Amino acid sequence: MEQMYALLGVSKAVYEYGETILQELRPRFAAIDQTAEYNQGKVLLSMQKHRVNATHFAATTGYGYDDEGRDNLERVYAGVFHTEAALVRPQITCGTHALTVALSANLLPGDELLSPVGAPYDTLEEVIGIRESKCSLKEYGVTYAQADLNPDGTFNYDAIRAAIGDRTKLITIQRSKGYATRPSFSVAQIGELIAFCKSVKPDVKVMVDNCYGEFVERLEPSDLGADMVVGSLIKNPGGGLAPIGGYICGTRECVERCAYRLSAPGLGQEVGANLGLMPAFYQGLFLAPTVVAGALKGAVFAANIYENLGFSCVPNASETRHDIIQAVTLGTREAMVAFCQGIQAAAPVDSYVTPEPWAMPGYDSDVIMAAGAFVQGSSIELSADGPIRPPYAVYFQGGLTWYHAKLGILMSLQKLVETGIVRLP
Ligand SMILES: *Cc1c(COP(=O)(O)O)cnc(C)c1O
Repeated sequence: MEQMYALLGVSKAVYEYGETILQELRPRFAAIDQTAEYNQGKVLLSMQKHRVNATHFAATTGYGYDDEGRDNLERVYAGVFHTEAALVRPQITCGTHALTVALSANLLPGDELLSPVGAPYDTLEEVIGIRESKCSLKEYGVTYAQADLNPDGTFNYDAIRAAIGDRTKLITIQRSKGYATRPSFSVAQIGELIAFCKSVKPDVKVMVDNCYGEFVERLEPSDLGADMVVGSLIKNPGGGLAPIGGYICGTRECVERCAYRLSAPGLGQEVGANLGLMPAFYQGLFLAPTVVAGALKGAVFAANIYENLGFSCVPNASETRHDIIQAVTLGTREAMVAFCQGIQAAAPVDSYVTPEPWAMPGYDSDVIMAAGAFVQGSSIELSADGPIRPPYAVYFQGGLTWYHAKLGILMSLQKLVETGIVRLP
């Protein structure tokens, strides 16, 4: 094994250091495997109930009328997320698009949207109109209110109660911290928040931005009262095989409106050809629980390696996980570059490329990104990135297999050791 890692560029010292860290992680990994096993059962149960068969994998074109593969995939998703309905489409281009459809379909002029968990994901700022943008919800007369979290990351129930008013129609809860410094929320915490909001206003609708959270726990927010859960197929639920797409699972009432918004009033879910993507969507969902487990093991391994070397990690080495993101504060530009170059060198695609910090639209500092993915921008595949500014943190996520995630982390450490930034104990 050492020899194989040596061929891949990992020194004996780095490999052995990794193995000592891994010794301690066996019980954590066993718990992650149990969750994957449970969620695999959940996916299989829904596929069996909906009698998935080879005819569901056929391609359709044009309008896509009577697309049984697409319609059945939506039943399968609804079965997995325990919702009345689902919209799962290649025509949903990314997570931001799925969220935009869910919001704009369920908010009318005069309505107010409330985020009770502080600022939403960056790309939603323009969708909502927090940052001025053409075609934002704000332009259509939908207002936005926000209740910030307490300094310790818990919900500020007083502020939330005060923010829920006559016009509050929809509440948006982001499960993963994304690029923020707050903790990610457990499904149980989200359930409590939903119950609170509905106790204040029983007819309010709740949408959960489920990006990066799918299959990390046994329950999903839709099990605890969310009217819609929304996410991207090039993250967790696509299992690395979906080349595009997004999903919205929820109540029939909400999902029907989403379908009319996505296509056109009157057309709804009836149109939208699958373009031959059904095998990837079905098989990706089937693989998703194990793919997520591999990514989670990678995140736990990274936190334990880097915390042990004195770097601060969020979540830390021992915390339970609510999404697949791992932040590691490396403290310097040079360390961020070395880390990302290691991740890149371990990739199956573009491994020979050397990532460098560069200016990016929308950022006030240079950004470095490492990704060697089969699907462009897919962040269920192993990737790392971060803005080059204090505290010089990299955000690391994904890995289609645990072994690839492991190699990526060992290579990141290898580069840090080679540049003299890290000395192994
Ligand atoms: C990835 C992500 C999104 C959507 O991003 P896309 O790049 O448009 O797919 C939204 N919210 C969160 C928390 C995310 O992680």
